[in-house]
Amino acid sequence: VPEIAEVEIVRRGLAALDGARVSRVEVLDHRLESLPVADVEGRLVVGATRHGKLLGLELDNGDILAFHLRMTGNLLLHADERARLRVHLERDGDSLCVSLVDPRRFGTVVLSAREHFAETSGPDLFDESLTGEVLQQRGGRSRRPIKAVLLDQQVVAGIGNYMADETLWEAKVSPLRPAHEIKLVEWRRLLKKARGVAERALERGGASFSDYRQTDGSLGGMQETFRVYGRAGLPCRRCKRLLEKTVVAGRGTTFCPTCQAESA
Ligand SMILES: [Zn+2]
Repeated sequence: VPEIAEVEIVRRGLAALDGARVSRVEVLDHRLESLPVADVEGRLVVGATRHGKLLGLELDNGDILAFHLRMTGNLLLHADERARLRVHLERDGDSLCVSLVDPRRFGTVVLSAREHFAETSGPDLFDESLTGEVLQQRGGRSRRPIKAVLLDQQVVAGIGNYMADETLWEAKVSPLRPAHEIKLVEWRRLLKKARGVAERALERGGASFSDYRQTDGSLGGMQETFRVYGRAGLPCRRCKRLLEKTVVAGRGTTFCPTCQAESA
């Protein structure tokens, strides 16, 4: 499942489409039939943007063709025969194509005006105005477990399941602690660690433990560096105690009962 780093890597790949004109949009899945294809065809791509896990191709009239990859979506820079959607483009006589390949078909594609792109979302994890204080203001009144709050895209956009587990272990915070009990110094540490985990994932081309691929189809290597995610029953890399697994907010959650004690 792509999280902020994986989506950012795809965004960088989409920069290859800058200055290309959309010649044809092929909708190959009836679930995407509401896409107003005629409003996309003929438009020039002027950039690629991202907010949290939401991706967008910026068009020359100010609209954004927005993709949410969800569970298994990938955008690949070739005409792929498995695609749910293919966008064909032309630039300087060359033909280009971006394909949405998405085995479980939960991904969405919509055309939105720039001001409506990501409007229901909280600040992006890398937004410079996002500080520990802001994070506490947005999430710190909740009685939900801290992990559930970190996963809430309306609190902060971009964190998914592996990032939340890695961040909480790095910050030595139990995933089960109620968010309203988290102190400011811990919100600051969580933000810093979350950004660190995302940067590490970016350097490694993202995490390819499920369906995620880079836009050229290659795998990322972040999964080889996981400290806790997917390591339940194995020794903690800090204290050697065996990592435990539980469920928080309906998501499998791995943590160290010693390093991430429930009483802070
Ligand atoms: Zn430990």
